[in-house]
Amino acid sequence: MTITNSILEISQIIEGKLFAPPDFSDWRIEKIVTDSRTYFGGKNALFFALVGPRNNGHHFIPELIKKGVTAFIVSEKKFITGDAAFILVKNTTSALQKLAAFHRARFQYPVVGITGSNGKTIVKEWLHEILSGQLKIIRSPKSYNSQTGVPLSVLLMDNNYNLAIFEAGISQPGEMAKLQPIIKPEVGILTNIGDAHQENFKSKKQKLLEKLQLFKSAKQLVFNIDNELVGKEAQHFCSENSIKPVSWSLKNNNALLKFKHQAVGGKSNLSVVYNDEKFEFTVPFADESSIENACHCFVATLLLAKNARETLNVYTRLAPLAMRLEIKKGVNNCLLINDYYNSDLTSFSIALSVLHQQSKKGHLNKLVILSDIQQTGIPPKKLYRQINQLLAQWQINEIVGIGPEITAHSNEFTLPKSFYPATENFIKHRYKNQFSNAVILIKGARSFTFEKIAALLQQKAHQTVLEIDLNALVNNLNVFRSLLRPETKIMVMVKAFSYGTGDVEIAQLLQYQNVDSLAVAVADEGVELRNAGIQTPIIVMNPEQHSFQNIIDYRLEPNIYGEEVLLNFKKAVSENALNNYPVHLKIDTGMNRLGFKTRQEIKTIVSEISSGSQLRIKSVFSHLAASDNPDFDTFTQEQFNCFDILSEKITRAFPYKIDRHILNSAGIERFPEKQYEMVRLGIGLYGISATGLPLQNISTFKSSVSQVKKVSPGETIGYGRKGKIDRESEIAIVPVGYADGLDRKLSNGTGQARVNGQRVPITGTICMDMLMLDVTGKNVSAGDEVEFFGPHLSVSEVAEKAGTIPYEILTGISQRVKRVYLFE
Ligand SMILES: *Cc1c(COP(=O)(O)O)cnc(C)c1O
Repeated sequence: MTITNSILEISQIIEGKLFAPPDFSDWRIEKIVTDSRTYFGGKNALFFALVGPRNNGHHFIPELIKKGVTAFIVSEKKFITGDAAFILVKNTTSALQKLAAFHRARFQYPVVGITGSNGKTIVKEWLHEILSGQLKIIRSPKSYNSQTGVPLSVLLMDNNYNLAIFEAGISQPGEMAKLQPIIKPEVGILTNIGDAHQENFKSKKQKLLEKLQLFKSAKQLVFNIDNELVGKEAQHFCSENSIKPVSWSLKNNNALLKFKHQAVGGKSNLSVVYNDEKFEFTVPFADESSIENACHCFVATLLLAKNARETLNVYTRLAPLAMRLEIKKGVNNCLLINDYYNSDLTSFSIALSVLHQQSKKGHLNKLVILSDIQQTGIPPKKLYRQINQLLAQWQINEIVGIGPEITAHSNEFTLPKSFYPATENFIKHRYKNQFSNAVILIKGARSFTFEKIAALLQQKAHQTVLEIDLNALVNNLNVFRSLLRPETKIMVMVKAFSYGTGDVEIAQLLQYQNVDSLAVAVADEGVELRNAGIQTPIIVMNPEQHSFQNIIDYRLEPNIYGEEVLLNFKKAVSENALNNYPVHLKIDTGMNRLGFKTRQEIKTIVSEISSGSQLRIKSVFSHLAASDNPDFDTFTQEQFNCFDILSEKITRAFPYKIDRHILNSAGIERFPEKQYEMVRLGIGLYGISATGLPLQNISTFKSSVSQVKKVSPGETIGYGRKGKIDRESEIAIVPVGYADGLDRKLSNGTGQARVNGQRVPITGTICMDMLMLDVTGKNVSAGDEVEFFGPHLSVSEVAEKAGTIPYEILTGISQRVKRVYLFE
């Protein structure tokens, strides 16, 4: 960041009112912060308290002052204190935009602006890749294209660069007029106009005209005229604003550039003549939008590159943005990128780009372990020569080839190399200590069972683990958020060790994701979270009398479910000489568990709380008994009605706002209209949906085979001789038993596990610490990974077989099973 203005200057630039002790006005700002989570200390930072539908940045000011931030842009006067410099403005987002526009004006090098319905980010990323050999480029991080993303991107400009590429996205009229002066592009790219974000526009044409506003003062505009509306309006816009139209087409001879296109296998050869010069290049895609994006990039390159011809070889290695690879910690400070489900050229080059990115994180060497590449239709000699070129392009340090074919063509490789005819030979001859400080791409066809290599190089925790995918957890949170109004608060149930997934790790992630509160079953769970630094409000569902002092000392909030708890807790608060202590009232609307049920009880409660200032009701709630079951929807509606009536008696009796909530996960899915001010998310976050939402599996319970043995007909397996053998069999012994939480009802063929990509039955009776699998004919050996539930064997399926519910399976995994967390 290169903002080196003083606070005083900044207050003038953004036309705000400065409130600061005198010595603050010379304070020079070098860093802009808008997300308190990304501030990790350091001086000379300026925090913009942005106000959005979900978050109000002002609330983070006290915390940031403690962390050392000394300058703030605010729109709410009441947050101004004597502890730091404050600039008061009407709207903090507009202030950020003004500052960015001022910053933009300092630079003379060309800026490219990209907008359109689809493809903005990919065109930006590709253009960056194509031009980065010739120019020093600053570009929008990720998809920063919004009203705040654009100014934050532009504020990254400095004199180290000689080209900037920014994308701009809008969702309603009037927004582009604000982004235009911030980006002020010299070269524009209009990707296309589709149906995205149509809801706020009268017509596609209106949306197109709005987007074109970005290019108002551009010199040149790149667009594709194959869409008639775009062709006509963009042409018209260019002539009205004296912009040079740089039109292109795959069909139409009226365009300035007419591409010829030929599909070959999964690739496309493109050629075009420009200024009497012919250019040819190949992209590794055959779909229409990739071709469109590549043409946009090529045309822009003609306008921007020092030498466009020299960039042509980059097109062959362009990669789609989104793809899923497994990234794991390896032994000796290695990082493993596991991709052993296919092996074609395209996925190989994508994996190489990921390898390249990961290597920038401080891992020096780049190593590739690659199997024979099968079924490409390319003659092997040519294929491995191409592979070698790719390895050179991505500056790979070493290749390990595994398989007869790649070994036979080892001469085609020109980097440090070693070859093995089969996976087993590699495992025998290379020891894991020979690998250190490297990013290792493990990429092979399925038949090569490279997961064995991954298992060898992976950092071993315990053999038996519960692996928690935190990315999946965030995905699931967002799926539920998308069902809710932006202002609805979310309480996440982290009781029972977050449904078995972990306590502190999960709470930390949820705090980072700004959930509004966390709920635990008993006070001790809350104390644990506070000790780990969790600041989010924590509700204790079952506050026991003996824990009241802990509840108060650790700022936990009790669920008040009966008169006795109320009186006793009120007394405890009095004894601590506190006031307005936040509590939550539970109403029983039909579950017949904890809670107030009658009007009389509620009357008593209301008068008891009103009669002193010790307690303040933060929320009133109830719990549904059968929200997942349509058979009981009439009953559920009665619960809602009862809640409306009883909760109103409470909310009406107090002058302040009291949140209401009744929905659990299935309730959110099936009755989102009853979200009131808050919802309570539980099992859904952990991957189980009542209605088939696109949730991701988050926990995988797995272990590995200790031993495989042959057993003959007539013999039996395990305790009680329950597993009868009637053919020559292979039995795998796995160190997982009912003491680890695997339900004993899954014994004797009822339950299954997955080994080497295949399902096998549990045979014999599950022991305390071990069980046996029938792996006859499955080619299983000691060390092979075994999944008991996870992505290939759902928790719901296991629950059904064990005759229980997913809740019990998840929470039943014993604490002795180590939890391992994955997060990219
Ligand atoms: C556990 C619990 C929830 C969450 O229920 P899910 O079905 O897991 O979403 C919500 N509210 C209360 C009171 C709970 O005890």
